[in-house]
Amino acid sequence: MGDPRTEKSEGPGREVSLPTITPVLVAELLADGDRMPVYVHVIDHPDGRVLVDTGMTQLHPAVKDMDPQLTPLSERTDFDLAGVDAVVNTHLHFDHCGGNHLFAGTPVYVQRTELDDARTEDDYTIREWVDAPGVQYVPVDGTLELLPGVRLVPTPGHTRGSQVVVVETGGRSVVIAGDTAVFFDELDDPRTEGQRLIRALAPHEVWLSHQHEPWRPSSDRDA
Ligand SMILES: [Zn+2]
Repeated sequence: MGDPRTEKSEGPGREVSLPTITPVLVAELLADGDRMPVYVHVIDHPDGRVLVDTGMTQLHPAVKDMDPQLTPLSERTDFDLAGVDAVVNTHLHFDHCGGNHLFAGTPVYVQRTELDDARTEDDYTIREWVDAPGVQYVPVDGTLELLPGVRLVPTPGHTRGSQVVVVETGGRSVVIAGDTAVFFDELDDPRTEGQRLIRALAPHEVWLSHQHEPWRPSSDRDA
């Protein structure tokens, strides 16, 4: 998936061998009276840079009542859009695919079920953001190893076609979970198939789209 990028090494002598995960805040939404952050996540892997979800870049009448406050990827001076080698959508709700149009020509990996639902079900998302000009989906059926140690895993629950990204970092896995869980208590006490799947992976950390910090298992929190 392209050449390893030298700018990922920070400072002299520092070699990047394990993937790193960086959350990027791209919006805040009003939900049930509370301001909810919207994060996307960048995986810097020796074999390429993967962006998980794309947030939003513009306002839309359909979500006006959520009063979106945007800091889109396209307006950040610290984010190089051209440096992204692949995009993953955990699912295609509007706050996760609104920036897909920024990555025309870059492969966008999404579960086939999710793509079908987003294209056919009413009131599912903002459909023109899903099929913006130039967006090239790679429909995935089930689990896929995107890069060595970076796997897409279907996690039904929040939507039928939701997926998470599992990243192996030195023997322990980190999960980028989208909205498979929105709040920490949904992982403390998993209810959906997807949430149970995440717990079964025994992850060290789980990044959620709408939380500032990653969830960690209680054994690690007490340590
Ligand atoms: Zn969301």
